[in-house]
Amino acid sequence: MSEKIEITGLPIDNITMEQAVMKVREFLESGKVNTIYTPNSEIMMAAYRDKNLRKVLSEADMLIADGAGVVLASRILGRKLPEKVSGIDLARRMFALEREGGTKFYFLGGKPGVAEEAAEKIKQQYPGVHIVGTRHGYFKPEEEPAIVDEINSSGAEVLLVALGAPKQEYWIDKYKHALRVKICMGVGGSLDIFSGRSKLAPEFMRKHGLEWLYRLCREPRRYKRMLDLPRYMMLVLAIRLGIKR
Ligand code: UDP
Repeated sequence: MSEKIEITGLPIDNITMEQAVMKVREFLESGKVNTIYTPNSEIMMAAYRDKNLRKVLSEADMLIADGAGVVLASRILGRKLPEKVSGIDLARRMFALEREGGTKFYFLGGKPGVAEEAAEKIKQQYPGVHIVGTRHGYFKPEEEPAIVDEINSSGAEVLLVALGAPKQEYWIDKYKHALRVKICMGVGGSLDIFSGRSKLAPEFMRKHGLEWLYRLCREPRRYKRMLDLPRYMMLVLAIRLGIKR
């Protein structure tokens, strides 16, 4: 078990990308379903406000800091995380894992067609990957048991759930005991990126923690939600100064 660091009420794994990949390997060999969530500052803020979300995230088998904001928060609080371990980068490392027989993935989420397009692109890029099933993320609650059955009968080892946060975390939490995969990971908008329908921020922006600025320019309608980013930083400062807990 790796060490956890408490950041605004959530136990974040104190690990590097390399260590996260090692944990993924252990999960793949384990006899249970392992959950991975990758909260960014917006979700950290949402979890601070909402104890149900906090509980779901706290029960993750691996909880990693996706975003420069969470790493900065760890520094401000004097519990420095080694680096950002983003969900999309970890998913790519999973595709590149060298394992006998390859790793079997199921993609759930995105608009109709997105998961299939993502699967096609990933198969071209990572020939060792087996994508054993895909399904879009717009379904009714009554369809969910059949979706779980389909995932189980596909033989998938890794289920990537792209329903947006926190919907995907709640979905995984609800079905983790019914699923027979080894890993369930919430991946937000990653399938849109893998499919080529959306673009990731340029490397220099990702490196310097400016993804939020890129996102704000591309999707200005998100600005209200994005205000949680500065709010989160204020919260962290207030905790550091002993004004809040
Ligand atoms: N999505 C989905 N089903 C839903 C809502 C969203 O499959 O009911 C998908 C959406 O198509 C997108 C991804 O979830 O691919 C992320 O959505 P959004 O940008 O709203 O979430 P965030 O990036 O904030 O996690």
